[in-house]
Amino acid sequence: SIKVASDIEIARAAALEPIETIAGKVSIPEKHLFRYGPHKAKVSAAYAGNLDSKPDGNLVLVTAISPTPAGEGKTTTTVGLGDGLNRIGKRAMICLREPSLGPCFGMKGGAAGGGYAQVVPMEDLNLHFTGDFHAITAAHNLLSAMIDNHIYWGNALDIDTRRIVWRRVLDINDRALRETVTSLGGVANGYPALAGFDITVASEVMAIFCLATSLDDLRKRLGDMIVAYRRDRSPVYCRELKADGAMTVLLKDAMLPNLVQTLENNPAFVHGGPFANIAHGCNSVMATKTALKLADYVVTEAGFGADLGAEKFFDIKCRKAGLKPKAVVIVATVRALKMNGGVKKDDLGVENVEALKAGCANLGRHIENVKKFGVPAVVAINHFAKDTDAELEALQAYAASQGVSAIVCRHWERGSEGTAELAQKVVDICEAGEADFKPLYREDIGLFEKIETIAKEIYRADSVKADAKVRDQLTQWEEAGYGHLPVCIAKTQYSFTTDPNKRGAPVGFELPIREVRLSAGAGFVVGICGEIMTMPGLPRVPAAETIQLNAEGQIEGLF
Ligand code: ADP
Ligand code: MG
Repeated sequence: SIKVASDIEIARAAALEPIETIAGKVSIPEKHLFRYGPHKAKVSAAYAGNLDSKPDGNLVLVTAISPTPAGEGKTTTTVGLGDGLNRIGKRAMICLREPSLGPCFGMKGGAAGGGYAQVVPMEDLNLHFTGDFHAITAAHNLLSAMIDNHIYWGNALDIDTRRIVWRRVLDINDRALRETVTSLGGVANGYPALAGFDITVASEVMAIFCLATSLDDLRKRLGDMIVAYRRDRSPVYCRELKADGAMTVLLKDAMLPNLVQTLENNPAFVHGGPFANIAHGCNSVMATKTALKLADYVVTEAGFGADLGAEKFFDIKCRKAGLKPKAVVIVATVRALKMNGGVKKDDLGVENVEALKAGCANLGRHIENVKKFGVPAVVAINHFAKDTDAELEALQAYAASQGVSAIVCRHWERGSEGTAELAQKVVDICEAGEADFKPLYREDIGLFEKIETIAKEIYRADSVKADAKVRDQLTQWEEAGYGHLPVCIAKTQYSFTTDPNKRGAPVGFELPIREVRLSAGAGFVVGICGEIMTMPGLPRVPAAETIQLNAEGQIEGLF
């Protein structure tokens, strides 16, 4: 077989344009750029905040079938479609999440696209970038320190030290920090307490950062966060510790969208990156809203499969930010559909039309689900080298039977040339103006009913199982005025059920809700199904072992 260039080799060979040139393509004046070196810049608040008079472009969501280890390629397709739209003469921008440092040093695998559909400079993107995650880490941990300090100096707020729910964060995978004890060493160090760390992307500050529409909104939401409870179970808010102002100060610059470019020199915002399980898994509202004012088409990605990512994008992000998406691209691969149809990972290289057809049930359900939000869909078949014509034709025939087009896309191999057809289809959909976006459920129904609606309508569970403790908690939050919040389900991304091994389109199951959490500042109630890891560990041989600088000072081993 031929030697294919690695993502980092392709990225390194790219001819990057100065960031001023990229900004110029969407008419951002140079004086409104805060540069971080030659190829990264933030857009000033004065500029981003003064675009209200401009009309909004068309918002396009890229989502996918249920993920498998075979890979789907949402980010790659988002970048490819953005380049494809520019190629056919449209003014298009891309909005992506910022990658977390943690996984970079754990498992190999970039988060900036792949092949000839990438955002660059990819080393920067995957490492410190413009420091946003460090700012979020600092803001989060400032609050942790202020809680302990408040208790140290007499605990005037009467915090029950057994009921502190605010943990600490770090953007490194480190299992040793999952459960810790703080304040050992005597009187001067405070009261020993159980504590622990989550990875920065799991912080509620990250979710707020991505949902806030302004610095005022950011401060209000930070203030609304619940950090602990008193003995009488009444909540203690961040604002009572007077931390919201200083946290906002730490986040002020980070809140500005980061501008970078694709390999084809088209503009992309890469900003914010919340977890897709206990949070909503989308880039920042600030970036998306700004991009909609600058470009005629904005292509964005939501984490995981459409049952989780698209549902949260619609019901949390779009609902809260008043966004009206015009089209949805559902990424499917022959490989992943064959896996959904029962083929083992090692056998994916062999043609298997029957398995593909069986796996198509997974795609079919995601298509039906997306339609429930009133937004038209198109399937992007992310082409892999070993896909056969018979398989591609069978997949296209299946999509046609479901009333949607499925377009073969070769952006990974060929860049925008490989997505021109998809781009034209997306333009046709947007121009036809058929989208009539509506969330899945109304705000005013009960919290448990919201969970049930998602479980039945999207996952197709028969019922939701939750013990009295969970139901009582939801009722209490409704009584406390949180009943209008949307819900955010934390569930495996690999299946519609809570069992990652049940691929395809399973029926006849119940959805067990083990625990519920209130993210009062971010503005959603989290329903947790199964174990959710908020601080990952490193694998036996972490990628960090092979990451180093070469003789030219370039980074080696990162993807
Ligand atoms: P997602 O956003 O769905 O997690 P990505 O777009 O990040 O997926 O892709 C995951 C990995 O798969 C990347 O390393 C990317 O380079 C690779 N990949 C994506 N599309 C293709 C393709 N068509 N052929 C080969 N590798 C691909
Ligand atoms: Mg991705």
